Amino acid sequence: LVSRDNHPERSTVRVGGVPIGPDTVTLIAGPCAVETPQQTLEAALMAKSAGATLLRGGAYKPRTSPYAFQGLGEAGLRILADVREETGLPVVTEVVDAHDVELVASYADMLQVGTRNAQNFALLQAVGSVGKPVMLKRGMNATIEEWLMAAEYIAQRGNLDIVLCERGIRTFETATRNTLDVSAVPVAQRLSHLPVIIDPSHSGGRRDLVLPLTRAAVAVGADGVIIDVHPHPEQALCDGPQALVDGDLVELARVMRELPAIVGRT
Ligand code: PEP
Repeated sequence: LVSRDNHPERSTVRVGGVPIGPDTVTLIAGPCAVETPQQTLEAALMAKSAGATLLRGGAYKPRTSPYAFQGLGEAGLRILADVREETGLPVVTEVVDAHDVELVASYADMLQVGTRNAQNFALLQAVGSVGKPVMLKRGMNATIEEWLMAAEYIAQRGNLDIVLCERGIRTFETATRNTLDVSAVPVAQRLSHLPVIIDPSHSGGRRDLVLPLTRAAVAVGADGVIIDVHPHPEQALCDGPQALVDGDLVELARVMRELPAIVGRT
């Protein structure tokens, strides 16, 4: 279902009316985690000032350590819905458990399946059944074939509104948190008609790499990028070191305004 063999045209997925597909490079930005109403609103306004048309933010956080902040749950979803109301930005947020899919879908415009759940087949089937677009991150240890097969689990339930997200894979390299596999973008786009975006924040894990990796994403033909921003990253409850700050946004806006045109997109 996701293969390009039976569907040669590349697809565009619409999230609350915002297109992600071959004609444009969509900027999704926001806080890694929803912490407070004020922090989420400030991050959303930062995102908007850089040209973001979709808001990201996690209310359910799949953390490596069980002692780390796990997210606000439904209270976080309510904050996201309020901030959507205030800013007009449709919301992309992660769901980590099949039992929560209907609840998260009742607030979100797009459901995110994270790298740690990328082969949680019950979750994939559940998000495929609920009628909302899905962003499927690549498993950090998954081959491109395994990633596409994970997408197939969603599609098989009748939902073809799927966006693939390359977010870095595990390699021997320790200088970056993960290794961004830029070649995954053209490879996946050749094999599948689904849009493919890049997460330069979670791949590098470092603020200083986000803009260089964003440029790489646009240059390699990604259909969008998803970027963490935070008004006060030193106080962030999750992944502060990779969040862009106010001072980075002028350059991010410039990159997103100028680079897509060079590769023939808007
Ligand atoms: C995220 O985007 O909030 C996230 C946890 O990403 P990943 O699943 O890629 O680690």
